[in-house]
Amino acid sequence: MNRKEFLLKAASFIIMSGLTAAGLSQEPDEKKNKKFTVISKRCDGCGHCFRSCRDKALLVAGDGKAIIDLDKCKGCGDCTRFCKRMAIVEFDPSK
Ligand code: SF4
Ligand code: SF4
Repeated sequence: MNRKEFLLKAASFIIMSGLTAAGLSQEPDEKKNKKFTVISKRCDGCGHCFRSCRDKALLVAGDGKAIIDLDKCKGCGDCTRFCKRMAIVEFDPSK
């Protein structure tokens, strides 16, 4: 990478960081209302989802299955990609 390419990359990184900090890349309001929960019947306690949550909302229940702390869940949906049994589903707590 030459100096010009480096400076262009650095400038675009700084601009994108600024937009994120300013909240311009935030998701629409409807997304903020979403939460996720685990359908216990589908969960086999494999644990693949436990480390996917940056907010530490995914917990292990007494039976070894996953549960989601709704107070901590931000509704990002990242955990759903780790569950092959489709046990983690979205819902709108306001409905
Ligand atoms: S939706 Fe996001 S915040 Fe909620 S439990 Fe899943 S990974 Fe964590
Ligand atoms: S990945 Fe799915 S099946 Fe495995 S523990 Fe999490 S919710 Fe349960």
